[in-house]
Amino acid sequence: MKAAVWYGKNDLRVENVEEPVIQPGKVKVKVAFAGICGSDLHAYHGADVIQQGTPHPVTGVMAPLTMGHEFSGVITEVGEGVDNVSVGDRVAIEPLIYCGECEHCKNNNYNLCDNSGFIGLHDNGGFAEYVTVEPHFVHKLPDNLSLEQGALIEPAAVAFHAVKQSNMKIGNKVAVFGVGPIGLLTIIAAQAAGASEIYAIDVSSERLQKAKEVGATRTINAMEEDAIKTILSQAPGGVDVAYEVAGVEATLANALSVIRKQGEVMVVSIIPEPIKIDMMQLTLKEAYLTSVLGYRHIYPEVISLVAAGKLDIEKVVTKKIKLENIVEDGMELLTHDKSQAKILIDIQKS
Ligand SMILES: [Zn+2]
Ligand SMILES: [Zn+2]
Repeated sequence: MKAAVWYGKNDLRVENVEEPVIQPGKVKVKVAFAGICGSDLHAYHGADVIQQGTPHPVTGVMAPLTMGHEFSGVITEVGEGVDNVSVGDRVAIEPLIYCGECEHCKNNNYNLCDNSGFIGLHDNGGFAEYVTVEPHFVHKLPDNLSLEQGALIEPAAVAFHAVKQSNMKIGNKVAVFGVGPIGLLTIIAAQAAGASEIYAIDVSSERLQKAKEVGATRTINAMEEDAIKTILSQAPGGVDVAYEVAGVEATLANALSVIRKQGEVMVVSIIPEPIKIDMMQLTLKEAYLTSVLGYRHIYPEVISLVAAGKLDIEKVVTKKIKLENIVEDGMELLTHDKSQAKILIDIQKS
């Protein structure tokens, strides 16, 4: 079968690999759609986010491995002892790997597992025609939910967990700094949670147009206007919560500048390098600076909300491509074209 295998920095190869064989306690999924994520881009460009050198303690897998952690598909085989899903079920995959034995797993905070990982970064993932996974990774999709939407449950879960963990309350004003896929989904989540005003800040006019389509009440292009001034003039005293989804030092500083006293900056992005923070901005406001890692126990809620027609998550998709073109039309395009948001791979299309 065809799969996109990570060998090293800027070395992702679409090649023929052996189709996985069903084993007891596992299910085999024929992958339908898979999204390319920011962390996939980091891995493609050689950042240290993929299992290399030693096998992962839970999966026993290391690179070269098949990437892809945001995906949906149809179950084609069910291993011995699996009774919660059946052949033909359409599913979204929750790709968080955890050990089940550490303190955090035992406390049900499996995203904080001491031995955590991701399918597609620490085990073979969904940029392939088939994948076998343990059944606790799969969530059934209702009939009215498309497989495209199914592939977007994973990034939506990140955004929903962030909004849920933040102090945002119904009627609050919020700002979202950075409107790539997760920023757009954060707007959707904040709107679903009852935000009254949503300011979206970015440097790409195409992305800001998307932000407006998914529910931002005011968009600000930081190349053209002063985001702090605009927000503070329209929301005197500041917004209740600012979500930092750009992952840049200057953006975090701006987020701290636009929150009200006792407000919150929730960092949703991954900021791999140390950055400077002006602590006085926090102290003088008695403000909160918080963060989230992935998600937990939220797939069923996100799936229900999408099925109820309350969330237009498919609006974040800007392009659909074929697996064989993942490097040119996926990784390279996302690197150079900042108007792109979510690119979905139609895995079975050749
Ligand atoms: Zn992701
Ligand atoms: Zn654990």
